[in-house]
Amino acid sequence: MPGIVASSQTTYRRYVTGTGIITVVNYSTIFFDLDDTLYPASSGLWHEIKDRIGLYMGQKLDIPQEQIQPLRRQLFEEYGTTLRGLQAAYNIDAVDYLAFVHDVPLADYIQPNPVLTSVLANLPCRKFIFTNADDKHARRVLQTLQIEQYFEGIIDILSVSPYCKPMPPAFKIALETAGNPDPHRCVMIDDLPHTIRVARELGLFSILYGSDMSEPGFEANATLADWGKLPELLTGGTNHES
Ligand SMILES: [Mg+2]
Repeated sequence: MPGIVASSQTTYRRYVTGTGIITVVNYSTIFFDLDDTLYPASSGLWHEIKDRIGLYMGQKLDIPQEQIQPLRRQLFEEYGTTLRGLQAAYNIDAVDYLAFVHDVPLADYIQPNPVLTSVLANLPCRKFIFTNADDKHARRVLQTLQIEQYFEGIIDILSVSPYCKPMPPAFKIALETAGNPDPHRCVMIDDLPHTIRVARELGLFSILYGSDMSEPGFEANATLADWGKLPELLTGGTNHES
């Protein structure tokens, strides 16, 4: 007989079966990453933005071509985003940088996804964008995908300054922006494992997007490769919550 194991430590209710654990997640709020999450990495859009980051570093900061890629990687690893690294090392203007790197014809790369649209329209919870890009880029992406109306707000890199994902203070600001919901009733969906790992440590139900691994690994509570499976994941599908 399946049984319910209630835990005072979490808001999860566990239905234990003979074959494993099925977890019901009582969520109120979902934070969605933007780039390479709301559209597939295979679109090439984020690759184009990365090329423009390199162009900015070469044209505006006179960094030699052969140093751009290793420096970008170093800044990303040290500061969380290239922007934060360039601000620290070169005192660049964030608004100017963000406008330059996101100056891309979005519709050439991304189109509305009917499955994602349907999921967003039907999930009974509050939805926010939480992105290391800026609000302007986020709105353009949401408009191109025709899903802007489903989101209550956008937490962008300017609103969490001087932090960014995956720094815990950035998550604190995101939660405050959403009205301080209980983190255990929140979900974070992101394509980057280091973001998902911190979100999980802070108590959010954390979903690594873009992976179809059956085992989510230590970073994530779950993985997701098909938006159509998100409702099941959040309302009673099998996962590996621990
Ligand atoms: Mg992303």
